[in-house]
Amino acid sequence: MDFKSEYLQNVYDTVCRRNAGEPEFLQAVKEVLESFEPVVAQKPELAKAGIIDRIVEPERFIQFRVSWVDDAGKVQVNRGYRVQFNSAIGPYKGGLRLHPSVNASIIKFLGFEQCFKNSLTGLPMGGGKGGSDFDPKGKSDGEVMRFCQSFMTELCRHIGPDTDVPAGDIGVGAREIGYMYGQYKRMRNEHTGVLTGKGLSYGGSLARKEATGYGLLYFTDEMIRCMKNDSIKGKTVVISGSGNVAIYATQKAQELGAKVVAMSDSNGYIYDSKGIDLGTVKQIKEVERGRIKEYAARVSGAEYHEGCRGIWTIPCDIALPCATQNELDAESAAVLIKNGVMAVAEGANMPSTPDAVAAFQKAGVLFGPAKAANAGGVATSGLEMAQNSMRYSWTFEEVDAKLKGIMVNIFHNAYNASKEFGGEGNLVMGANIAGFMKIAEAMLAYGVSF
Ligand code: NDP
Repeated sequence: MDFKSEYLQNVYDTVCRRNAGEPEFLQAVKEVLESFEPVVAQKPELAKAGIIDRIVEPERFIQFRVSWVDDAGKVQVNRGYRVQFNSAIGPYKGGLRLHPSVNASIIKFLGFEQCFKNSLTGLPMGGGKGGSDFDPKGKSDGEVMRFCQSFMTELCRHIGPDTDVPAGDIGVGAREIGYMYGQYKRMRNEHTGVLTGKGLSYGGSLARKEATGYGLLYFTDEMIRCMKNDSIKGKTVVISGSGNVAIYATQKAQELGAKVVAMSDSNGYIYDSKGIDLGTVKQIKEVERGRIKEYAARVSGAEYHEGCRGIWTIPCDIALPCATQNELDAESAAVLIKNGVMAVAEGANMPSTPDAVAAFQKAGVLFGPAKAANAGGVATSGLEMAQNSMRYSWTFEEVDAKLKGIMVNIFHNAYNASKEFGGEGNLVMGANIAGFMKIAEAMLAYGVSF
């Protein structure tokens, strides 16, 4: 038995049977259901209405062929996905990931997590996710454009500003959103807020690019202030990844007075004891689309090491995994704990394995789970949707202030829920419960409609 509650055990057994061979999805569901033990005990009406049975089953799962022609004139075929997981509290909302590892399991785990994350922001957004096993790495701009146009030609039937609003994720940045939005506009003859993360000249929001990384730091700072009566200032920080989330997490950490000493990509990591020179990282990753390895060749005193997991052996006060799922395992967690880490907050989605999370919690390390700590990106996407509906733009400072307010609230909502349900300080449990309750209330109000 994995669960004390028979109801939860039955729900989980059904999920395992229906989604056999989908380990990431099962991992995400198990973690969430474990947090629901005290809720189910206190609120029997949830089981009676089958709320949890329904919440683990996507409302809709779309899979489609994406054909496009490469620069050599050869026809290429990829697989596209969109999961529309839950629309109880608003239109489906969640990013699109382009990476060769993308499959149904990864899309469903991301879509499931997204439901609770979006609810935590306090904005009216349901949960969804999508993407393809297309690998943008090494492709020309023309190839990326033809792929994105073909992908959107099918996706556009299923989305809309009041139905489903995708955004970026791994492999989908400003360039890809531009190609996809252009194709949507052409097919529908409409200028609507159907994607977020748009360029500023065609409906994007200021501070969206920075939002996930900035939000992660606002959350982490609040967590340290409230739970340790301390702050980010003066701390040594290790940040994995060197994409959108990692770069802007580094920027805000530096602004808050911390020293970021390491970053990585999927090949290896850099260590710079003087503190990362972010201008050089941005030049390599954002402008040249190069590898993090080049940093060590350009900055004297910096080191490059092959293999991305070694980054967790660098002693630090705060570790922020911002690359990908399951990048921080129990072994890495043990080294971080031995080296005295005080706080870990997840910028990426599900970067810590369940064993790693358990080790941090057991050792008393503050732990901010992804669905709370990285919700700043989707929160700001929600603000982009609001601005699109108003046909109006807020200033950078206005968006940033709203983002900060949302992240501070998310921390307190998660913390308060952890207290209310008997696990004070367990933010994994608190975030799951706080995100869930709003969705459950809406589903109860609708009766058995889906
Ligand atoms: P990017 O594509 O901009 O960057 C991803 C980074 O992670 C790159 O440095 C990449 O290195 C590295 N990476 C990818 N796969 C692996 C791997 N298997 N092992 C080690 N490193 C890897 O993506 P984002 O920064 O947008 O996203 C990073 C994480 O944050 C993802 O989990 C995403 O779901 C999550 N997230 C993103 C949000 C956003 O607003 N962008 C919002 C909320 C969560 P390489 O170049 O070598 O592939």
